[in-house]
Amino acid sequence: MKIAICPGSFDPITKGHIDIIERSAKLFDKVIVLALKNNEKAYTFSDDRRLDFIRRSVAGIDGVVADCYDGLLVDYAKKVGASALVKGLRAVTDFEYEFQMALANKMLYPELETLFMNTNQEYMYLSSSLVKQIASFGGDISLFLPECILDDVRTALANK
Ligand code: ADP
Repeated sequence: MKIAICPGSFDPITKGHIDIIERSAKLFDKVIVLALKNNEKAYTFSDDRRLDFIRRSVAGIDGVVADCYDGLLVDYAKKVGASALVKGLRAVTDFEYEFQMALANKMLYPELETLFMNTNQEYMYLSSSLVKQIASFGGDISLFLPECILDDVRTALANK
């Protein structure tokens, strides 16, 4: 069984993420959407909430599951038998960091391939931080998030 991991912060998950996940699901038998816990990052949403938002958003996509992990990505990949990481690329600004991570992961676990998937033109501007910024000014974020989490994200951001 070919297993891929789509790792990220998903703080919160957006339609841009969903697009990459859906397209990955067509290429692999199983896709694990992995919310990473990085102690150096200050997340807007708790680990449990980020995971809950992912679970609800991918519930209808065949072969896709969600998980959360606090550790080295390559260790998780070994544990679950994944053969690839799929990363979405929005622009050259994403590339430098992703390229460095891909090379480091290759050194740590050569059997694991990193695949870069081009963003859908429709979502190339979209990031979780943009959504939070728009919400903080009272803007409409309904275009950017999966419908099923919209109310919860809106309420949570309004109370920040
Ligand atoms: P961000 O906080 O920048 O939105 P994440 O760390 O949650 O990003 O992203 C996880 C993965 O999804 C990364 O590979 C990122 O490049 C990708 N990604 C995020 N938004 C988009 C988008 N709009 N189009 C394509 N890929 C995206």
